[in-house]
Amino acid sequence: MGKQKVIIVFGTRPEAIKMFPVVHALQARTTVETRVIVTAQHRELLDQVLEIGGIVPDIDLDVMQPDQTLDALTARLIVELGHAFDAEKPDRVVVHGDTLTAMVASLAAYYRKIPVAHVEAGLRSGDIHHPWPEEVSRRVVACIADLNFAPTQAAADALRAENRDPATIHVTGNTVIDALLATQARIGREPGLAAAFAPIAAPFAGKRVIAVTSHRRENFGGGMAAIAGAIRDIAQRPDVAVIFPVHPNPNVRAVMDDALAGLANVAMVDPLDYPNFVALLDRCEIVLTDSGGVQEEAPSLGKPVLVMRETTERPEGVAAGTARLVGTDRARIVAQVTALLDDPAAYQAMARAHNPFGDGHAAERIARIIAGDA
Ligand code: UDP
Repeated sequence: MGKQKVIIVFGTRPEAIKMFPVVHALQARTTVETRVIVTAQHRELLDQVLEIGGIVPDIDLDVMQPDQTLDALTARLIVELGHAFDAEKPDRVVVHGDTLTAMVASLAAYYRKIPVAHVEAGLRSGDIHHPWPEEVSRRVVACIADLNFAPTQAAADALRAENRDPATIHVTGNTVIDALLATQARIGREPGLAAAFAPIAAPFAGKRVIAVTSHRRENFGGGMAAIAGAIRDIAQRPDVAVIFPVHPNPNVRAVMDDALAGLANVAMVDPLDYPNFVALLDRCEIVLTDSGGVQEEAPSLGKPVLVMRETTERPEGVAAGTARLVGTDRARIVAQVTALLDDPAAYQAMARAHNPFGDGHAAERIARIIAGDA
């Protein structure tokens, strides 16, 4: 029998971080021919991870265009991915999470009756407008996938509650923990990998570092302005330093530049490559974020994470006590950060390291199931 031809498709930074362990695990299986298609929905941020993750895509669709609407991106993706699948004729397509790339790749595969596997399946906020448009993207993938790799039991339960066939659902852990642990180990062997972080942190020796990331589409506008205001207020404290890798999206950068440029204890830096971002997570005392992946990484490192969203599809961090939803109200964000800074008991209660999202072996489980060796 010939090898099973598996095409892995992704396009954004978080997908690349969470899929590089899956690519490596599939490449290690002798019964699988692994091909990688990147859509480059986030060009710059994706390329950083491809390099660090040691992935050379077989096909790069390079779909990113300035100020592209969701309509235009969806249209471009479906045509380009359809052409690629027709040329490659895969036996299976593997997608990740909740991006437009994942949704459209699933549709293009479905139109050709190619089975789809979904990594990080079953996350649900229950609100189709938060996160937007991701909540609908992942629901569409769930309608199509015949292999659903749920990172946690709660995600598997959400799929069952939607009447997905239980035989398609496998609880594997989240591959982000594989990526995080592998990257920490690599930094241990090759400290130079995270060398870019040292000069960023150097001016803040002795200060209490708050790591910030923010890029959610539904926070563009008023939410982003409130977040910027909160950081400005927090940065008034002389004992604090804010290190903020700013997403290149102009909806983020322009607002942050306006509110924060020139503040002595705020370092706004370009997005860090993954090892340097892991170094920032290691160094900081508190994480303030609206990101999905960062909510999963912070608990593993025992870092309290305040989530600037109204809902989360990752309740495990909240249940475990390391994550708290703080929304995007300026005064509320400031109050929550201040409470953690000034109340050691409140801080300690949130600062326990644990791994509700996985044990670092998710990719191996996923590869085994795809290969049919489970
Ligand atoms: N990340 C990174 N560099 C940065 C900021 C974040 O490598 O400057 C990583 C982070 O560790 C996490 C992922 O990017 O694994 C999260 O991506 P993002 O917040 O863009 O997307 P989301 O997870 O919200 O979909």
